[in-house]
Amino acid sequence: MTTQRSMLIDGSPVIGTGDAFSVINPATEDAICQCNMASVEQLDQAVSAARRAFATWRQTPDAERCRLMHRIADRLEENADELAGIIVQEQGKPLALAQMEVGAAAAWTRYNADLEIPEPLLEDSDSRHVSACRKPLGVVASITPWNWPLMIAVWHIMPALRTGNTVVSKPSGLTPLNTLRLVELINEVLPSGVVNVVMGEAEIGSAISAHEDIDKVIFTGSTSTGQHIMANASGTLKRLTLELGGNDAAIVLPDTDLDAVAERIFDTVFINMGQTCSALKRLYVHEGQYEAMCSRLAELAERQKVGDGFAPDTTFGPVQNADQHRLVSALVEDARAHGGRIVCGGEAPHGPGYFYSPTIVADVSNGHRLVDEEQFGPVLPVVAYRDLEHAVSMANDGAFGLGGSVWGADLELANHLATQLECGTVWINNHAEVLPNIPFGGSKMSGVGVEFGLEGLLEYTQLQVINSRK
Ligand code: NAD
Repeated sequence: MTTQRSMLIDGSPVIGTGDAFSVINPATEDAICQCNMASVEQLDQAVSAARRAFATWRQTPDAERCRLMHRIADRLEENADELAGIIVQEQGKPLALAQMEVGAAAAWTRYNADLEIPEPLLEDSDSRHVSACRKPLGVVASITPWNWPLMIAVWHIMPALRTGNTVVSKPSGLTPLNTLRLVELINEVLPSGVVNVVMGEAEIGSAISAHEDIDKVIFTGSTSTGQHIMANASGTLKRLTLELGGNDAAIVLPDTDLDAVAERIFDTVFINMGQTCSALKRLYVHEGQYEAMCSRLAELAERQKVGDGFAPDTTFGPVQNADQHRLVSALVEDARAHGGRIVCGGEAPHGPGYFYSPTIVADVSNGHRLVDEEQFGPVLPVVAYRDLEHAVSMANDGAFGLGGSVWGADLELANHLATQLECGTVWINNHAEVLPNIPFGGSKMSGVGVEFGLEGLLEYTQLQVINSRK
């Protein structure tokens, strides 16, 4: 076990005075580091620091904010090896994927830095001149999950900064170390107090969502936590962006060339060991191609090299934590007990580490827990359908509505089906692709609001209309 890690409040390192906890390496189950959660008083200090910094940060000219954000991106790139190493150690993903995460974090920072904030003229007539402007909200709190910890922290923090807000970030207690380092790097560039970071779990999360001096919460995590945040935030009518759980369905059109799509389907299911909100999580295949598709996916699964993310030949890392590992195992066992066929995988290798082999489960359908619930891990249920009406009704049967996809060569038919899926994004011959310039968000129980693109940026602003009578 190594050293104690500090939070960063008003530009200074601060040891939490709340409960102690250890950060665990999921590949070895060794404790990497000892931390303490913030007390509620320390959260108040972080919010006060952000409030004080807001007075000047909001006045900082756009061009200067843009320049400083590019400098932050430079610091991310200059420290890419260290950041990627921290991600592998605490999150578990293979090093190449962690490097990709750092690269995406820098790219997202630059994209946000360069966005223009529109100030449209709404009317200029004989009777009135009406314009609109966008003002920052104030103090924004960011609460992040453990799956893509650095990238999601950047997704939250950078649009907040671009629009003139200040930030209190609260990473998941399972993966706080990369966010602590990110905020240190940001503090090398920005004035003290503009971005602060505190550690904690439900107690601090609840204190954030009810806090009288926080103006917005941007949250990425489970639907149940999002519901708590929304209830807690009602007293202050906080602005909320909630990016929540998903159970994305994909429909493979009848007579699709399976060789053309199987590998891409596999990759979009198992990206980050399936621990990706927008991953493909249920696959619907026509009964005429069902067995062939299951076999192709199993072949791809069996080629994976499961191991520690630092080992050069590893293509598939561990599940991030013990609770998620137990959930994945329980869903597979429930499917097995109710007639599901384990085509490949379905077992946890011996030894330390929360490893679980990439798993394909056949002969399941809606009504099985594995199909109805979000597995958020390395297992895919494959469901047979009779006709496309049957497929669409099964795909839409559920509370989530994050993403969906349609696969096949008939693009007209694919586009027609896309409009029938109840979700925030439909990909055609792809899945799980998120981009800095394309808005992303969930429908139904998968979220409120969007991130990315201009629409995402504007969620960090208050619209003000100035209506001048002539
Ligand atoms: P989680 O809801 O358990 O935790 C997320 C964060 O919320 C953590 O920082 C945690 O400390 C904090 N938290 C816990 N209790 C809280 C409370 N009462 N009030 C405020 N904050 C609280 O989620 P997780 O297990 O870390 O992440 C997995 C989930 O996140 C999956 O459901 C996944 O689909 C979802 N997710 C969604 C997106 C998206 O963009 N829609 C992206 C990534 C992950």
